[in-house]
Amino acid sequence: MDIKKIGFIGLGVMGAPMAGHLLKAGYEMHIYTRTKAKALELIEQGAKWFDSPFECAQDCDVVISIVGFPEDVRQVWMSPINGAIKGMKKGAIGVDMTTSLPDLAVEIYNFAKARGVHILDCPVTGGDIGAKNATLTMLCGGDKEDFEALAPVFKVLGPRAEHFGPIGNGQLAKACNQIAVASSMFSTCECIVFAKRMGLDVEQTINTLQGGAAGSFSLKSYGPRIIKGDFAPGFKIAHFIKDLDIALKVCSHKGISLPGVDLARKAYGMLKDMGHGELGTQALYLFYSSSMMPDSGEPLVSADQM
Ligand code: NAP
Repeated sequence: MDIKKIGFIGLGVMGAPMAGHLLKAGYEMHIYTRTKAKALELIEQGAKWFDSPFECAQDCDVVISIVGFPEDVRQVWMSPINGAIKGMKKGAIGVDMTTSLPDLAVEIYNFAKARGVHILDCPVTGGDIGAKNATLTMLCGGDKEDFEALAPVFKVLGPRAEHFGPIGNGQLAKACNQIAVASSMFSTCECIVFAKRMGLDVEQTINTLQGGAAGSFSLKSYGPRIIKGDFAPGFKIAHFIKDLDIALKVCSHKGISLPGVDLARKAYGMLKDMGHGELGTQALYLFYSSSMMPDSGEPLVSADQM
C-alpha cells in the first residue's frame, strides 16, 4: 500500500505532536479536532483543515484518531452523520490510537468491515514526552497485513510497534501497561514523600535511584515534575481513571481480582472529587497531602497547590 494522504483526528497533548511528525515526514495531512484553535500551528505548517471526521477522512489512505474517551471514539468513527468510516474509501485503513475499550474496537472493526474499510486498534505508550520526541511504543490489534502496511507510519511515531493479535488486543496490551503504571506512580510518590520526611535531598535521591532497581518511567519522567510542584498534564487524571475503569471492567468480566488497580482507582477518584481531574497523574502526590492522609510533618506542597 502506497500511503500518501493521512487523516488525523484529535490534536491534544498527544495528537498535535504526532500529526506534526507525520507532516514533517512528508505525508499530506488532513486534520480535524473538536477545538480548531489547537490545529492552527499545524495549519500554518501546511496541514489541511476539515470541518468533521467525515470530511477529514475522505480520500485518505490512512485515518488516525487519538481523542479522549470511548464515547469520543464511537462518535468520531461511527457517527451516522459525520463519522470517519462513512467518509473513507474502500481499502483505506483506520487506526484508533486512543486508549479505549477492547469491545468498542471490535464493534468499530465489524462496522467498518461491512463497508470495505479496515480498522486497527493501536493505543500508544510513552507519554507526552514520547509523542513530542517520536519515541512512542505502539500496541496494535487487528489484521496482520494491515499492521504491516502501516509500518512506515508507525516508524515516524516511535521505534517500536508490536502486533498482539486480533482487533481489541492492542487495547488489552495497553490495559496491561496501565495496570503496571498505576503501581509505579504510587511507588514514585511514596519514595518522594519518604525522602522529604527524612530530610534527604530529594532530587539527589531520585536521580541516584533511577540508575538502579527502583528505576522506572514514572520516577524518571514524573519524579522531577513532582519535586518542582508541576502537576500540569502530561497525562490527565480523568484519562487515567478511564483507563483503570477499562482494566477493571475486563477484570470483572473475566473474574480477575487486581487489588493494586482497585486502590489506584479509589485514590484517583478521590483526587477527581477534589477537583483535580484535569491535572496530570503525578498529582497523585497531592493525595499524600490531603486530609485523607493522617500526617503530622511539614506540608508536602504549598496550600495553593492543593
Ligand atoms: P487531550 O489532550 O485531551 O487530547 C484529546 C483531543 O481529542 C482534544 O484536543 C479533544 O478536543 C479531541 N477530541 C475529543 N473528542 C473529540 C471528538 N469527538 N472529535 C474531535 N476531537 C475530539 O488528551 P491526550 O493526552 O492527547 O490523550 C489522548 C488519548 O491518548 C487518551 O485516550 C489518553 O488516555 C491516551 N494517552 C495519553 C497519554 C498522555 O501521556 N497524555 C499517553 C498515552 C495515551 P478538545 O481540545 O476540544 O478537548
